[in-house]
This record gives sequence, C-alpha cells and structure tokens, in this order.
Amino acid sequence: MSYHITRKLEEQGSAAEYKLSRSNFVPDENGYYGRFGGAYIPEMLHRNVEELRTRYLEIMHEPSFQGEYQQLLHDYVGRPTPLYFAERLSRQYGTQIFLKREDLCHTGAHKVNNTVGQILLALRLGKKRIIAETGAGQHGVATATVCALKGIECIVYMGEKDIERQAPNVARMKMLGAKVIPATSGSKTLKDATNEAIRDWINNPHDTHYIIGSVVGPHPYPDMVARFQSVISKEVRWQLKEKTGSELPGKVIACVGGGSNAAGAFYHFLDEKSVELIAVEAAGEGVHSGKSAATTQLGRDGVLHGSRSLVMQTEDGQVVEPHSISAGLDYPGIGPLHAHLFDSGRGRFLSATDEEALKAAFEVAKLEGIIPALESAHAFSALNQLELKKEETIVICLSGRGDKDLATYMRVMEQNDEI
Ligand SMILES: *Cc1c(COP(=O)(O)O)cnc(C)c1O
Repeated sequence: MSYHITRKLEEQGSAAEYKLSRSNFVPDENGYYGRFGGAYIPEMLHRNVEELRTRYLEIMHEPSFQGEYQQLLHDYVGRPTPLYFAERLSRQYGTQIFLKREDLCHTGAHKVNNTVGQILLALRLGKKRIIAETGAGQHGVATATVCALKGIECIVYMGEKDIERQAPNVARMKMLGAKVIPATSGSKTLKDATNEAIRDWINNPHDTHYIIGSVVGPHPYPDMVARFQSVISKEVRWQLKEKTGSELPGKVIACVGGGSNAAGAFYHFLDEKSVELIAVEAAGEGVHSGKSAATTQLGRDGVLHGSRSLVMQTEDGQVVEPHSISAGLDYPGIGPLHAHLFDSGRGRFLSATDEEALKAAFEVAKLEGIIPALESAHAFSALNQLELKKEETIVICLSGRGDKDLATYMRVMEQNDEI
C-alpha cells in the first residue's frame, strides 16, 4: 500500500473523526503517526496482520483480558516497579533524579511487560505457536518465559553474532524450552533475525503469532507494544505524585533502540507540554564514524520491517549496518512514534557513544549500587549533555539490569585501571 493511497483513505469521514478525538501521538486507524507508520507487508501476511489490527483493541479492553494481564504484571512480573530517588546521583548532577526500576522486572528488563500482554492476546486469537526475534537476547528471554508460563511452543530467531556475544541469554532461552535458530545472513544481528522471523510467519500464517519486541513493525504492532509498555509512565505519574506532590516531572529520559521502553516511559506524558521527553540513541564509536546506530541523526525516510520510519540507509536505499556496544540498541531504524516525536520536535533526541555509555554505567554502579544494562547506561549519559536545574525533577527509565553485560564490563575493567 502506498503512502498516498493511505492518506486518501484517512481523509474520508469516519477516519477524520477517529483522528479528531485522539492525541497527536496516538496513530490514526491506519497506524500513522504523522507521515510515519502504516503497514507495508507482503500479500501473504495480510490476513494475520489484518486479524491483529481489527481485534487488538477490543481484546485488550476485555475485562477478562485486563484482569489476567494486571494480575500477571503484579504477581509474576513484580509490578509496580519502584520509582527510586537516586540521592547520590542527584547530588552529583545538582538536580532531583528518580529512577524507574524496570531492571527489577522478572527477567531483568522492561520487555516482559509486552510479552505478557502479547501471549494473552495470542491465546485469545487461538494461536498455538509463538515466534520472536531478539537482539540482546532480552526479548527472546522475555518471550521464552511467557511461552513456558503458558505451555506454548516458542521459536526465537537470533543473529549468529548476537548468539556469541549474549551466551547467557541463549542458555536462558534454551532452559526455558525455546528453540533458538541462528540468523546467518547480513550482519548476523537483530535486523537479520527480524527478517527470518517474518519469513517464518509467512510460511505459518494460521497457527502462529509473531511477538515483536519493540514499537516497530507493521501497524498495529507499534501502538500495541506502546500500550503494553505504557504501564511504565502510568505508574510514574502516581509514584511521582506520592513522592513530590506533582504527577509531572520536568524531563523523562530513556534510551532508544526500537523505542519500546522510551514509548512506555513517555506515553502518559505525550500530551503534557511541560514535560520534556528525551530519547538517547546509540552513537557507537561516534555519530559520523560509520559505526553508529543514531538513527535520527543519520536516517532518512524509508520502509523497514513493515512500517515507514527513519532508516539508516545508503543513497540507493540499502540498509546500513548499525553498530553499538549494546546489542539491544544495535538497530538501523526507530519506531514510527519516535520518528514522529523527532520530526515534530515533541521529543528531543540525543546520542551517547559506546565510551560515554560505559562511563555512565560505571558511575551509576559506584554512586547508586545499581549495575545498569549497557542500553540503559546510554540514558544516564544524557545527564552530561543537559542543563539541569536544582529543583527540577528528572525521571530516567532504567530499562534493564547489567548482569547480561558483565563480560563487556569485565573487559573494560581489565583494559582501564582508572574506571
Ligand atoms: C532491548 C532493550 C532496550 C532497547 O529496546 P527498546 O525497544 O528501545 O526499549 C533497552 N534496554 C534494555 C535493557 C533492553 O533489553
């Protein structure tokens, strides 16, 4: 479906009404956030994606779904996660810093908020087999976990290179009963794993649900995943009110790979103009070094994995190999919501290099007794790039814990005495 055809459809009556009642940052019924989003999929996936598109909101609003989802978030994931006032870090930066502790979720990151939701949805759609792609391995683990929880077959596609650098997560997935299939094409990382998963879905359209791990993919995935992750900012609002008397922080900071923890952390603040939304991308060895994953800095409009967004690409539209020290941010695109936040100026996009992220990780460990995931460390690194005020409230989404990155941290400590 071309962009122009979709625009025309949107301009017709019911779609226009649909749009009027909504926030500018919730997609229209065709899945567009401004000019980004939509569903660009092969013919053979239409039935699956259409089934999902027409049913996801209805299922998510069913009382029985909400009952089961909320109970699992509470008893299984361990929500609400704490909003922790980071006293020593706050003193260091001369401001009031709160950490949203997604690292304390079961499986060690925010990703399980989404997989718990999607497995319940898949069951209600009558699906018997789950496929997923994974980069850092965190989404694979979160998917294998909920498949074990519900006794469903689970196949995880993972780049061969990521399988090497994330061995503990591969072991976890296998122990949880998932089959891990290596993606051996291209850069052998996340984008290749995603291609393999899409291929599988095309071959198994009837019994299989594809659990996408971020706010990417064809509509309705970006919106569905953002809604499942929005529990993060929903909790932040009442937790902040309890602690500071106001539901609204000055700034919310989150790292962006595809953008799901950021979407969740921003969601209930999207229409609050006073709240600055700050996304931090991975600059790798430097934005212009040729080894980077800073999509908003380097990307142009393009279609990647089923939606129109900003994509890192060559002149003639070949997707560029991204680089980041953190496997979870090593992705050449960004979800369409974030492309729109960037394009509209609602979100402010910063980037942090591998080195800056490492420095931030060691600082947080020493100042707060918390070892963050390398991905989350990018968010902390923004503190060095912002003008911060003493009385301002900053919320940082601590998307995951650093256990999975220990081998990288050990290597850095061996090479660098003063860290
Ligand atoms: C996967 C991952 C990310 C990046 O994914 P988003 O969809 O951008 O949130 C960030 N942090 C952690 C800990 C992750 O595992």
